[in-house]
Amino acid sequence: MQAFTLARPRDIDAALAAARADGAKFIAGGTDLMQLGKDNVEAPTALIDLDGLKLDGIAVRDGALRIGALARMSDVAAHPEVRSGWPAISEALLLSASSQIRNMGTAGGNLLQRTRCLYFRDTGFACNKRVPGSGCPAIAGENRGLAVLGGSEHCIATHPSDMPVALMAMDASLELMQAGGGRRIVPLAEFYRLPGNTPDIETNLVPGELIAAILVPASAAASRSRYVKVRDRASFEFAVVSAAVALDIQGGVVRDAWIAMGGVGTRPWRMPQVESALVGKPAADATWDAAAGRAAEGAQPARRNAFKLKLMQRTVRRALQMASA
Ligand code: SF4
Repeated sequence: MQAFTLARPRDIDAALAAARADGAKFIAGGTDLMQLGKDNVEAPTALIDLDGLKLDGIAVRDGALRIGALARMSDVAAHPEVRSGWPAISEALLLSASSQIRNMGTAGGNLLQRTRCLYFRDTGFACNKRVPGSGCPAIAGENRGLAVLGGSEHCIATHPSDMPVALMAMDASLELMQAGGGRRIVPLAEFYRLPGNTPDIETNLVPGELIAAILVPASAAASRSRYVKVRDRASFEFAVVSAAVALDIQGGVVRDAWIAMGGVGTRPWRMPQVESALVGKPAADATWDAAAGRAAEGAQPARRNAFKLKLMQRTVRRALQMASA
């Protein structure tokens, strides 16, 4: 592992100033970055510990949920107002990792977790995401766990995290802070980039910014949301396919529906075609069947992951059934 210096700034301006150094990286819980460092996938020479910035609050104000970027995953999952007003967020976090990881990992770090593509995490292989222009062995190689939506000829890596799938379904935004008190709000849907021909650039976060908070609007649908995760084993495993579903049902009719999927896209993937197949329809099995049948529209499977298309339909169907119960 590369030797590094460690800075512990006490405010955002100091943290952003320290981040200007060559080889500098922010660290919060460190659950992903430390492993990447041990594997020589990341080699920062200066780490900037964000813990002193006190961005760990979780609060509901004016009907919206605000999750500080440094809030621990376990604290967000257990928060009573998150569990009642945005249950899919809590469920996604509880299903995302072991309790030890959830106690260390932060909400902001979870947004930025790197892909689990095995070629990315093994420096013995080429990988366009790790070394731009080196190639993508996954396209002709081991791609069972990789994306069927949003890929390019340069990368088909799946976004690995669960919580951002629930956040994507609920129209969350991110509060990004800049030096001198500057601030911008970016919808999560605009935060993650598709790989295109620059898979090494994963977000629209720019130098001189850090994530301060996640903002999630309240709604009747959000309070009736569920997260379903299909994985290869029951404990601490990444999603093969997952679905976050939020439904507003009144008088037996679906008034609003928000759907996103994980494990299938190069970023958390919203499903507008499924949503439009639900709104205005009776809350009934026939509606769930018809809407779930559209979940895999536009998917382009690789050699080893075509099974995900049927699994996407079944996972959305299950999530709709649970959210409507
Ligand atoms: Fe690298 Fe992406 Fe190809 Fe995986 S899919 S080997 S992360 S370029």
